[in-house]
Amino acid sequence: MIDTHCHLEMPEFDPDREDVIRRASDAGVEVLVTIGSDVESSEEAVRLAAAHGPVYATVGVHPHDAAELDDEAVARLKELARHEKVVAIGETGLDYHYDRSPRDVQRRSFEAQLRLARELDLPVVIHSREAKADTLAIISATGVNRGVMHCFSGDMDMAERAMAMGLYISFAGPVTFKNARRLQGIASEVPDEYLLMETDAPYLTPVPLRGRRNEPSYLIHTAGRLAELRGVSTGDIARITSLNARRLFGIGEAPPRGRIAYRIRDSLYLNITNRCTNACSFCVRFHSDYVKGHYLRLDHEPGLQELKEAIGDPSAYREVVFCGYGEPLLRLDLVKALAGWIKDRGGRVRINTNGQGNMIHGRNILPELKGVVDSISISLDAQDEETYRRLCKPLMEGAYRGVIEFIKESRRCIPEVTVTVVDAPGVDVERCREVAEALKVDFRVRRYNVVG
Ligand code: SF4
Repeated sequence: MIDTHCHLEMPEFDPDREDVIRRASDAGVEVLVTIGSDVESSEEAVRLAAAHGPVYATVGVHPHDAAELDDEAVARLKELARHEKVVAIGETGLDYHYDRSPRDVQRRSFEAQLRLARELDLPVVIHSREAKADTLAIISATGVNRGVMHCFSGDMDMAERAMAMGLYISFAGPVTFKNARRLQGIASEVPDEYLLMETDAPYLTPVPLRGRRNEPSYLIHTAGRLAELRGVSTGDIARITSLNARRLFGIGEAPPRGRIAYRIRDSLYLNITNRCTNACSFCVRFHSDYVKGHYLRLDHEPGLQELKEAIGDPSAYREVVFCGYGEPLLRLDLVKALAGWIKDRGGRVRINTNGQGNMIHGRNILPELKGVVDSISISLDAQDEETYRRLCKPLMEGAYRGVIEFIKESRRCIPEVTVTVVDAPGVDVERCREVAEALKVDFRVRRYNVVG
């Protein structure tokens, strides 16, 4: 896990700072980003980062202290930002809740730090409280497109507009609070690619430790709540948010090779090809190389032996899913051989497909999958041919009719058949449901922009 926002230099940590850093490592928090909130604390943040391997620093002036940001302070921040372990400018922003600095002074300080971040090519850590319109307008005006809305407390519209500008959304302890329904709703909706987490220690201690001083080792509680809200495991949240934090702050190396087998929750997914006979407008392949923090851009299509080694014991998973960044049934021979191998070892097999397998191979392939595939999930993705053509851009003529025929044939050969749609703009989910009901198969709606 990575704690993207804590204040290790604060006096609350004077009695046991070294223990706090050690406890974080022991709890699996591999990186701590300690945040400067004025010139003095920025200097201290840099000193702590220089002295401790897992600690990185940001330098900036908080809106409460906005009046401090004169030319001399900007020059000092610039000097501090040259340190190799300084990864961002901030925290800066606007706080119209406490209004501890006059609003025009806050705005000037915010603008100046955003300009500094652009000049130094660093991301920005943004604090915004009850200042949605001005925050978004100032970010937009300065053209900043790398940063994080820390301890997010706005509404979904604000989150969407911030993400549209390229900013990450970070959740802290409040997402664990009982009465934080609206925030929890937003935390369940933010796409994986924009999600971060933090403690904001020593503040905002998560449930069940409220009342104590917060510290980075408590991040696991926020991770756990995010996992519950998003229907994934705590390990998934740790991986997704760590990857995002590393990408935003440029910490460490991104994974160099596409994963051919990757775990989400208690299932194992196989990534056997990046090719597809569709080019769906909502396909994750066109806007990200990652699913739930797993890098999936293949540099080659894996062979049978390679996949067996990557799977290990198939019975260790709830199911093994042929999925990936492409259409698995393009590699029918490999799917059949591997599915048989998985079944022989007590595994359960599912195929996620665009339903064009019969068109691709020019014959009814479903009898060939009988006995080795337990479940098939077929993307319908449209209520009619015209919508399918527009949204999925199939290579083959008559693809929608082909998908419908494939669904009918699947019922004869595969024990469980599910038809799925993505609730993307233009999809009439209810009419799709009627199509599935008429075909007498299960129906599932996948959320737009949520993959895995
Ligand atoms: S069918 Fe699936 S893999 Fe192919 S383009 Fe559409 S969403 Fe992407």
